Amino acid sequence: MLRQPASAKSVRSDAPPGRAKRRPPARSRLGRATIEELFAILARDRPAPATELHYVDPFTLLVAVVLSAQATDVGVNKATARLFAKAQTPAAMLELGEEAVREAIRTIGLYRNKAKNVIELSRLLVERHGGLVPNDRAALEALPGVGRKTANVVLNEAFGEATIAVDTHIFRVGNRTGLAPGGTPLEVETVLERVVPEPYRKGAHHWLILHGRYVCKARNPDCPGCAIAHLCRYRAAALKAAGQSGS
Ligand code: SF4
Repeated sequence: MLRQPASAKSVRSDAPPGRAKRRPPARSRLGRATIEELFAILARDRPAPATELHYVDPFTLLVAVVLSAQATDVGVNKATARLFAKAQTPAAMLELGEEAVREAIRTIGLYRNKAKNVIELSRLLVERHGGLVPNDRAALEALPGVGRKTANVVLNEAFGEATIAVDTHIFRVGNRTGLAPGGTPLEVETVLERVVPEPYRKGAHHWLILHGRYVCKARNPDCPGCAIAHLCRYRAAALKAAGQSGS
């Protein structure tokens, strides 16, 4: 479960009497120049960031992302290798049927429900969208198994939109660094949308996920080896607690 940062629990103590207390809008704890530098470093270190899910077109990307909930990309890639060998279009997926989809993906968590969703979303794509994946958030989110995060991944990866899908990695990196503090993924996403500099908008999603997955890990962040450590609030606080300087 995602831990709620202390700042997200607080509410305004100076709200006018009689009005519901509101949490102040989350905002970055880093200045503009620091944010520019942070993304310049992440972009320098990974000049061509991309999803690690295997796919060939918007439909196979959509299916892979739907399958990726509570599963690793490696696990999903093994499952989709079996599934996409049998069907790569909504019509072919319908023809394949739920039982065969379930069998192909049974190595990943929640496979029964995910198989149901893959079949149902394939049916809706055929019936409503001519068998194509819509380039539209509302239409995507109307599909079973597709929430805001999945829609953001598809809009970014398949259609080149500058969306940021806040998963557990981005949520952690945003809060730890101070780049985008927030108590919910939507709060973190809202801050990121406000502060990520234009040249980095399209790649921000990948840079932050990959940084969280390989460097700023949940249990054991590699702060000594982190290229953005000198900009990070978590690192600064840890050094201060240990009585060392951040330089
Ligand atoms: S310094 Fe540590 S906490 Fe900060 S981003 Fe790097 S790995 Fe994460």
